This record gives sequence, C-alpha cells and structure tokens, in this order.
Amino acid sequence: MISIKGLHKQFDQLEVLKGIDLEVGKGKVVVVIGPSGSGKTTMLRCLNVLEIPTKGIISIEGNSLDFSKNVPKKSIAVFRRLTGMVFQNYNLFPHRTALENVMEGPVVVKGMEKSKAREKAAALLQKVGLGDKMDYFPSQLSGGQQQRVGIARALAMEPEVMLFDEPTSALDPELVGEVLRVMKDLAQEGMTMIVVTHEMRFAREAADEVIFMDGGVVVERNKPEEIFINPKEERTRKFLNMIQ
Ligand code: ATP
Repeated sequence: MISIKGLHKQFDQLEVLKGIDLEVGKGKVVVVIGPSGSGKTTMLRCLNVLEIPTKGIISIEGNSLDFSKNVPKKSIAVFRRLTGMVFQNYNLFPHRTALENVMEGPVVVKGMEKSKAREKAAALLQKVGLGDKMDYFPSQLSGGQQQRVGIARALAMEPEVMLFDEPTSALDPELVGEVLRVMKDLAQEGMTMIVVTHEMRFAREAADEVIFMDGGVVVERNKPEEIFINPKEERTRKFLNMIQ
C-alpha cells in the first residue's frame, strides 16, 4: 500500500503540488491524467524522491518519510529502492548493452554477484520480449525496445511499486502497443503501478482507478468507466472533452 498525505512541492516561488492526498492499494493500477503543468511528473518524482517534497508524508509498504522534518540522506536512499521509475526518454546508458543496463542496478546498488545479476537481467529481458536483443546497444534498438529495456531495468531492483512517467509519449505510434502490452502484463501479474499517461485506452483497459490532477491538486478520482463516462467535476469534463 502506498499513501501520500499532504504532499507539497514548491520550486522557488512556484507552488506545484498543493497538498496531494492519495492511497494506492497493493497490486492496484492507478492512471494519472491532467493538463500540462498540473504537477503529474513532479508527484512521481517526489514519490521516487528525485525531488525532495517541501512537506508531506509518503509511505510505501510500511516505510514512511515525513518531509515536514529533516530527512536523512540514508533514509532517502533506502526509500528510493522501493520504487522503480520508467522515464519518457528511457534514460538508458548509451555505452552499455541492454543486458548491462538491466544488470547495473542490482550489481552497483544492491551488490549482487555479477553472474547472478546477469541471469536475472536475461530473464527480465526475455520477459519483456527482448531475449534476442540482450547484447544490443540502445542506439541499435527502436524506441519501443529501448523503453522495454527501461521497464526491465526498473523491475531488476524488485521495487514495491512501478512509476511510469509518460512511458509511450516519445514513441512513434506503431511502437506504443508493444510497450503498453508489457505494462498490461505487469498489471495482470499484480504489480502496483502509478502511470502518468495520455493513453486513455490503457487507462480504460488496465486501470483500477483514474486520478485527474489540475493545478497541483487531485480534482477527481474514480474507476475508469465512471470518470470517462460520467465525470463529476466540470474541470475533468473539460479536460476529457479536449483530449478525446
Ligand atoms: P506535462 O504533462 O507537461 O509533463 P506535468 O503535469 O507533468 O506536465 P510537471 O512536469 O510536474 O507537470 O510540472 C509542473 C510545473 O512545475 C511546471 O510549471 C514546471 O515548469 C514546474 N517545474 C517542474 N520541475 C521544475 C524544476 N525542477 N524547477 C522549476 N520548476 C519546475
């Protein structure tokens, strides 16, 4: 279970998150939608502590950080391992092969033996359909393949929750499906997932709940069939009319 309470984030004078409260049950898939600048990415980056929240409490499976207090760096490092992040632009190491990219975290962060990490990475690449591309460098892979390496790399750390930040928005349309398929498989296997995406079909098919954010707050949350067909808030309705 993930819980976010009173999450605030300010960049200088700009208050981007204005008190986010959210709970995500274990094994649930939450899709976050909302206009550009509403704070979706910032919320994910706060969950992964790539950004330090200004205040608020984040808990993942019983591990809690309270940012109203001074949080030691060591606690942040431990907490960060609970989440796996998949970025819009893959963020792979360009001079390492797919296999080496996936091995990196377990070896460097967890101190796993190389042979064991290699075996694990190979199994994960197999799982995302890249068993035959393990020795390819990122530049030799399509965007969809690179993103699947990105997903395998995040999974290699065995996170409690996977965070996806617009994972398909940099992809050519014909490559979107292969990434969404891997994500759907993960959802079906019971992975807890928070996904920022504009792929409404994915939201309809895979989300347990859809969150609509605007202006740094959660405006509305509901099951996909409810929020898409019968949004309660005017702001949600307007947004959905614009994108659908
Ligand atoms: P998009 O859909 O366009 O990615 P978003 O909802 O994910 O938007 P964020 O990327 O979280 O929105 O950005 C919210 C606001 O915070 C924007 O106004 C952005 O310029 C600002 N912002 C984000 N990161 C920083 C930063 N490191 N320093 C200053 N301002 C930032």
